Amino acid sequence: RFITLEGGEGAGKSTQARRLADALAREGVPVLRTREPGGAPGAEVLRRLLLDGEIAWSPPAETLLHFAARAEHVERTIRPALDAGMWVVCDRFADSTMVYQGYGQGADRADIAALTDMLGLRPDLTLVLDVTVPTSLARLAQRGSAADRYESLGEVFFARIRDGFRAVAEGDPARCVLIEAESEEDDVARTILATVLDRLCD
Ligand code: C5P
Repeated sequence: RFITLEGGEGAGKSTQARRLADALAREGVPVLRTREPGGAPGAEVLRRLLLDGEIAWSPPAETLLHFAARAEHVERTIRPALDAGMWVVCDRFADSTMVYQGYGQGADRADIAALTDMLGLRPDLTLVLDVTVPTSLARLAQRGSAADRYESLGEVFFARIRDGFRAVAEGDPARCVLIEAESEEDDVARTILATVLDRLCD
């Protein structure tokens, strides 16, 4: 089973990915937790190129770099784990490119969809963590990291990202579940685990 977590800054994806992987492991499920961009040696090299801020990539180049990293991640890490019978919990996947580079930066969304098809692997379930823009901004301020170049772009960009993720979730209800992530961490974790068990265990 391949599960992805998606959402904007400060939605709590990384925390919830960890909690979900831990909860599944406690149930006796063999699970691999990973994250993007990165998750394989070549993909980590590309992650640095994408996120260190040294180069202001054009939207199409940035899209292709994310997909190059993702292809490496799929081939070297995700698919081998799935083939070995593990469940994979991944913090961000192709929907992040659709939203950040497509909805956020105006890269061609049909091209991004075609690149996604090219990967030949779809998540069985995507949890889209949704928080309001003020919550996003407040959680980032609390974190105090200047790690992300998007964080300086402010409210308008954040709203575009949020709307993009909601549109992605609504557009593919067979795969995606929108998770209200304003609530306390424990409540969100419970909702996520219940959703995963409901959708993937029969
Ligand atoms: O920790 P997080 O997953 O939020 O950090 C990765 C960062 O990379 C994000 O904050 C986001 O701004 C950026 N990103 C991006 N395009 C993607 C995926 C991530 O710009 N496709």
